Parts: sequence; C-alpha cells; structure tokens
Amino acid sequence: MRDLDRLARLAPGGAPDRPLVIDTPPLVDVMATAASCPLCGGSFRLDEHAAETIDGRRLRIARVTCTVCGMPREIYFTLREQLQ
Ligand SMILES: [Zn+2]
Repeated sequence: MRDLDRLARLAPGGAPDRPLVIDTPPLVDVMATAASCPLCGGSFRLDEHAAETIDGRRLRIARVTCTVCGMPREIYFTLREQLQ
C-alpha cells in the first residue's frame, strides 16, 4: 500500500513539482474525475478544486477521494500560460 502510494506521487500530477499541464481551469475537474485510483482502479469523487501557490508556482489542486477504497489523493495542475 505504501509503495503504491509512493508510485502515485511519482506519477504526473502526483506532487507539486510535477503538475499536469492544462489549458483552462475547468480541465482540473474533468481530469480529476476521469483519473482512476492507483490502488484499486476505482474512480474519484472531486471534493475540492483549490488554487494555491507552492514554492512560487501557481498551482491548481484537485482534492479527490476514491469512491471504492476511500483513499484521498491530491492531483496537481498548472496552467500552460503560466509556464511562459
Ligand atoms: Zn481506490
């Protein structure tokens, strides 16, 4: 379980320093609920869509919970325009 959790953090979007790049903020909601749980393959329920600054980067964070096993996860996104 711990290893799988660590793998999830290494995946794109799994940590603040490797966010998924998106074009518009609504894609956060779409992609977060389209992702599947790394532990059980279940789908996520979006609990919160937050905008935060971490280490000087403006990030969008989707806080989700697996609807099957209940594992909470945070998925990090950054807007493409902010990379330029
Ligand atoms: Zn799950």
